Amino acid sequence: MSIDNSFKTLRYLSNWFSGIEKPHSNAFPLSNMEYSNESLSGWKTAYISNIDTLFFKGLSFGKYGVDSDYSCFRKGCIFGSCGRCGFYSFKDFDKARDLAEKRFGTVVLKVSHFGTVVIHSEGYRSQSQIVDEILVSPICANFFCNNQTIGMRVNKDYYVTACSRHIGEGVSLKDISKQSFLRVVTL
Ligand SMILES: [Zn+2]
Ligand SMILES: [Zn+2]
Repeated sequence: MSIDNSFKTLRYLSNWFSGIEKPHSNAFPLSNMEYSNESLSGWKTAYISNIDTLFFKGLSFGKYGVDSDYSCFRKGCIFGSCGRCGFYSFKDFDKARDLAEKRFGTVVLKVSHFGTVVIHSEGYRSQSQIVDEILVSPICANFFCNNQTIGMRVNKDYYVTACSRHIGEGVSLKDISKQSFLRVVTL
């Protein structure tokens, strides 16, 4: 391990212990904790990892479907007892959109939080989550193509936006919506 990498690891660990989970990039400071049993809606950034079964991949770890319950990887945690687990989302749409603009191949999701919901100043964290809407870039992800998105095509292990020229074997936004019963629109 290089010295540079060691410093990165140390910085990562200190952030982890101070409660700012950097690898979970939808993360926010876990301040002003309040609990709620109401369903609350937020916005987050994710990859679409499977378009047929509609599975999403978090920015750094974690996979989930349209309707999921969280299982914490921390030993002995009963949801929430570790103080940081759950499905995260931002209260502010702009934060999720800005994140999606910085990360190639990501989409914005509108999600509803259920079960035990923790309210923080910038976002929510919950035991259960339902994806309500998928918002994708209006522009084809192909390099130097500025055409309008009509659907999604596979790229490595996730899906990216595609125009009519680059969609190939991909799926149109309309068909994704039909299959999933979700609203699928461009940002
Ligand atoms: Zn936990
Ligand atoms: Zn294109």
